[in-house]
Amino acid sequence: MANIIDGKRIAGEIRQKLKEQTQEFFVKTNRKPGLAVILVGDDAASSVYVKNKIATCSEVGFYSNSCHLPASVTKKELLELIDTLNKDKNIDGILVQLPLPKHLDANEILAFIDPKKDVDGFSSVQAGNLMLGKDCLSACTPSGCIELIKSTGESIEGKHAVVVGRSNIVGKPLALLLLQHNATVTICHSKTKNLSAITKQADIIVGAVGIKDFIKGDMIKKGAIVIDVGINRVDGKLYGDCEFESCSKKASFITPVPGGVGPMTIAMLMANTLKAGNAS
Ligand code: NDP
Repeated sequence: MANIIDGKRIAGEIRQKLKEQTQEFFVKTNRKPGLAVILVGDDAASSVYVKNKIATCSEVGFYSNSCHLPASVTKKELLELIDTLNKDKNIDGILVQLPLPKHLDANEILAFIDPKKDVDGFSSVQAGNLMLGKDCLSACTPSGCIELIKSTGESIEGKHAVVVGRSNIVGKPLALLLLQHNATVTICHSKTKNLSAITKQADIIVGAVGIKDFIKGDMIKKGAIVIDVGINRVDGKLYGDCEFESCSKKASFITPVPGGVGPMTIAMLMANTLKAGNAS
């Protein structure tokens, strides 16, 4: 039976450390690190995510600015707000909660955020820095996955990591981070042929697909580390992309859903905000 990687506990430890580092930041700068979160419209899930981010800011001692705009906001109005936040000396990080209403092009909006304040790591500048192996604000969920793998005490170097999913926010940046940690990386996606022949070779297998229980125990190697990024809500219950029952029988370590990768994302967002503050 696999060891459970307790993301809730690890995220709590990261937040505790950030609290201490925030005090040091305050002594140095006479201000708190600041995060602005922009929510457009009234999507229920987005509202909960934003609330959690603001609550975590207060937990770790950050200044936060929650900006709620109506779904009808124009591109010009939204860009004006981002411009103000770009210039605000008390704001180190700016996050635009996705998805945006259809009339707003997310890529165009995100590109307007000062890259130095892009704590989500989604801008071309930060994604490009990650690709080049430069110091950067890397995407939060992938960074959280790396912390969870490190928490096992196993070295990433030399391992074969298979990432199933190639989105710009999870699969691709995580593959790059694993590469930076000297894993041999394979990226799979919806056009991959004979997927299970590849996943069976993985020492580290990541599910970032968005389909409940997509990766089954018979698709993984005995002793693999399983990182389940998926969040799939079915009948009010959360499920991952990796079938927990069958995968946990073969894996050496596995992240649960909920309580695995999920809590890490906000912790890494806070870490990025402090990092941006220290660089400013
Ligand atoms: P996307 O829908 O953007 O990407 C899904 C990826 O899965 C795509 O690359 C797609 O391939 C691939 N895929 C789809 N079907 C298959 C298949 N049959 N075989 C192999 N690959 C397939 O999702 P995200 O990356 O945004 O999110 C993935 C999951 O992670 C979701 O459940 C999401 O809710 C969750 N998530 C969790 C976070 C957290 O904090 N824990 C944060 C962000 C996301 P193709 O590119 O070919 O279409």
